[in-house]
Amino acid sequence: MMKKYKIAILLLSILLVLSALMVDNRRNLIANFMAFSGGEPPPLLEPMDELPTTVRPDDYFTIDEIAPNTFAIGEPRYYQQNYSYLVVGNKKALLFDAGPGIRNIREIAESLTDLPIVFLPSHFHFDHVGNGIAFTERAVVDLPYLRNRAIGNELTFAEMEHLGAIEGFETPTWRVDYWWKPGDAIQLGDRTVYVVHTPGHSKESISLLDTENQLLLTGDYLYTGPLYVYFPGASMQDYLDTARILLAETPNLRYFGAHRTAPPGPPQLSQQDLLDLKKSLEHIRDGKLQGEGLWPMEYIVNENITILADPRYLQDWSE
Ligand SMILES: [Zn+2]
Repeated sequence: MMKKYKIAILLLSILLVLSALMVDNRRNLIANFMAFSGGEPPPLLEPMDELPTTVRPDDYFTIDEIAPNTFAIGEPRYYQQNYSYLVVGNKKALLFDAGPGIRNIREIAESLTDLPIVFLPSHFHFDHVGNGIAFTERAVVDLPYLRNRAIGNELTFAEMEHLGAIEGFETPTWRVDYWWKPGDAIQLGDRTVYVVHTPGHSKESISLLDTENQLLLTGDYLYTGPLYVYFPGASMQDYLDTARILLAETPNLRYFGAHRTAPPGPPQLSQQDLLDLKKSLEHIRDGKLQGEGLWPMEYIVNENITILADPRYLQDWSE
């Protein structure tokens, strides 16, 4: 009896140590990935065939007008094929995302408008904040934990929020000119856009809603290709909650994301993609949709989207 008891304790201890290692490994894996991934951006891709209407201002950027005075500025030669968006009113313009900063998107944005441009990142990952580009004015989403962390109006990103060490970018400190709360209406003169908090990919992720043009600029929450839901700050439960809120409160939009995997043109998705995403997240939670691979697991949503996530037992479902 005593011997069985000891064996059970031993087995339980081994299990606990193994599970602790697995959980810690998540962070370690990312740290190792950052340390051994070369520390610089990979070589540029060859130029691709884009839409007949796509404008090429130089050998790197592309410009597509997705609605009146609303421009998708692409960096299809950067391996993550980023898209940032310039929304132009008659008093001000807003640049939503700025790519990795290996080329200066500010010059492209300024070639499209003479108005002052405020830069607002969809979230803090290095491939969206335009590392090293000097913007005249910067806005950041006003979330209590970020506001608490700021010293005056200086906000230093956390290394794990920025992840820039992967490609040799320094973790930035910003002077924040505007703190915009989720739900805030941003007046650009003759047009208004709204800040929508869309966590899931990261805690501070936001989207930009343009009701007049029925557009939602979704950053890394929704785009064509694999959606990353396993970096620090990512949450499967948040992803599902965000999908539900978007479908309930802002139906029937055109969704434009921040990356694509193949040409031509900006990454555009429909409400059906968001519906499929919601259903897949529910099926993953309920064990009805199986993923492939070890870490991250890949779950297929539809022909446009997959989800990259922790294995089921490490996912953070709270319902
Ligand atoms: Zn991201």
